[in-house]
Amino acid sequence: MAKPLTVLGLETSCDETAAAVVRGFPPGPGTILSNITYSQIAEHRPYGGVVPEIAARAHVELIDGLIERALDAAELDLGDMDAVAATAGPGLIGGVMVGLTSAKALALAAGKPLIAVNHLEAHALSARLCGHVEFPFLLLLISGGHCELVEAAGLGRYRRYGATIDDAVGECFDKVAKLLGLPYPGGPQIEKLARNGIAKRISLPRPMLGREGAEFSFSGLKTAVRQLVTKHQPLSEDVKADIAASVQAAIVEVVSDRVRHAMWRFREVYGGDREFPFVAAGGVAANRAIREQLAAVAKSELFSLHLPPLELCTDNAAMVAWAGLERLAAGLTDSLDAPPRDRWPLETMHA
Ligand code: AMP
Ligand code: MG
Repeated sequence: MAKPLTVLGLETSCDETAAAVVRGFPPGPGTILSNITYSQIAEHRPYGGVVPEIAARAHVELIDGLIERALDAAELDLGDMDAVAATAGPGLIGGVMVGLTSAKALALAAGKPLIAVNHLEAHALSARLCGHVEFPFLLLLISGGHCELVEAAGLGRYRRYGATIDDAVGECFDKVAKLLGLPYPGGPQIEKLARNGIAKRISLPRPMLGREGAEFSFSGLKTAVRQLVTKHQPLSEDVKADIAASVQAAIVEVVSDRVRHAMWRFREVYGGDREFPFVAAGGVAANRAIREQLAAVAKSELFSLHLPPLELCTDNAAMVAWAGLERLAAGLTDSLDAPPRDRWPLETMHA
């Protein structure tokens, strides 16, 4: 058995400020010694979405205190860490700079290696932090900022099968919710309202359904809802619920269809009738209807579904610490001039 590694991780790429300490060794699972997340939802709610400038300022104000709390909760100090990891992108650049710069300062002060973590890789590897998931596996990442299907062949070895050509799926939930006059974040609101509605009463488009490949598109759905809302003014509670149910049904159908196509491609690459892991992560993976349908698709295509627990599905620092830990174990550390990046496609990573 290799000696377990202990890593401090920081996450600041969007609207969660987070710090965590994780211990373990690849392939996992690991132990989360602390995992502190401050969600800035309240700060952004008045604007109906994440405001980059407000997010960056909040990260600056919060990060030092959160690092202290994460170390305290783990009952360790910086000297006990084997490395300091932070999200270096992709994300809102002002926020990414805050976390990455903090990690650099800590690494320099304590003489520890720095790991510049790709946020998407952290989501991908979160399934290995909390369960037994071997490479290769298929990843569906559905969140407020990301919507993609990725083949994970090994650490740092990813191939994107498809992504959204416009809005992310969480963004679609949030924009539709805004049109219906619901508060931010809209996904959970739509899910709740959908329970009272009848999807069949409102017909909506299914962008990309049945199309070759694994790309997504959601802006057409949003536009269709905008037209409906204009037509049905003033909106009754019943119509609102029907729209919510119909939007959720359309999204569930499109996402499952794209996943099925990605599974076919994955099987073309890896062949056989062996079962492969399928990991779904991101805030939208909290949606019950989506979870149920993903389970059904996985079953029929002979994949085993892995859904990290909710607090590890949305943005968090434990997954960043774990991704850093996996890279450290592979001897992959970064220099103190590692750049923050607003864009950083998984495919351009090299293990
Ligand atoms: P993340 O970007 O991973 O922090 O996740 C936030 C996104 O997930 C937002 O767009 C939310 O609206 C969305 N979301 C959270 N819970 C749900 C849910 N139950 N159904 C649909 N979307 C959700
Ligand atoms: Mg978020």
